[in-house]
Amino acid sequence: MIEFDGVVKRFGDHVVLRELDFTVSPGEFVTLIGPSGSGKTTILRLLMTLERVNEGRIHVGGECLTHMPKGDAMVPANEKHLRRMRKRIGMVFQQFNLFPNMTVLQNVTEAPIRALGLSKEEAEGRAAELLEMVGLTEKRTARPSQLSGGQQQRVAIARALAMRPDVLLLDEVTSALDPELVAGVLKVLKEIASTTDITFLCVTHEMQFARDVSDRVMMFDQGQVIEDAIPEKLFTAPEHERTRAFLHAVL
Ligand code: ATP
Repeated sequence: MIEFDGVVKRFGDHVVLRELDFTVSPGEFVTLIGPSGSGKTTILRLLMTLERVNEGRIHVGGECLTHMPKGDAMVPANEKHLRRMRKRIGMVFQQFNLFPNMTVLQNVTEAPIRALGLSKEEAEGRAAELLEMVGLTEKRTARPSQLSGGQQQRVAIARALAMRPDVLLLDEVTSALDPELVAGVLKVLKEIASTTDITFLCVTHEMQFARDVSDRVMMFDQGQVIEDAIPEKLFTAPEHERTRAFLHAVL
């Protein structure tokens, strides 16, 4: 579960998120769409604790991410609290960010061994299942440079899942891929979304994917959710003029 409660994010005088409130229920797949610069990536960066809120609170899995208890009060989270919470959140980026000097298998086992304390055998067992899920069992000894972009992205997905996150954040995961590789990555994500209870928050320009896989789509503009609906409704009968104009421009 993800909950934004009155979140304000500013960069200098520039207010990027304005008292933002939204909830993503456990196991739900929610996609954020909206114009460039509207603040979508900032939402993911706040969840990844790469940025801090100026006001408001964020909860993940029922626990406050941005603040922690101290005596009777809640105070801004310290590094230790953020590190613990980060383990519950996985992210797949536009640029796959694999470790270039490691094999596919090592890329998937590294964090579970280092951050979760799994034994090599346990981590390799988990990795084998995940590599099968993303269709890359036979590439386990390859280096990232020997893989296509689509294969690298599927390794990145397996690597994120190896941490067994409660929440998986997807930031334009197909925009660096050649068009013919996009379908394979989206198919894998769709399968994971339908077979696990992970909560997904996805930012994408792939409207067809958003329509196919999302339980809910939120149209975002100028730091606020201006429309929030099931995909059939949002894509076929949007209520807001701004949503209609955006969809007209991108579809
Ligand atoms: P896109 O679809 O182009 O990725 P977006 O909706 O994800 O856009 P953000 O990347 O969240 O938008 O950016 C929202 C606004 O915040 C933009 O105007 C951007 O310039 C600004 N911004 C983001 N990060 C910073 C930063 N570190 N310092 C200053 N301004 C920033």
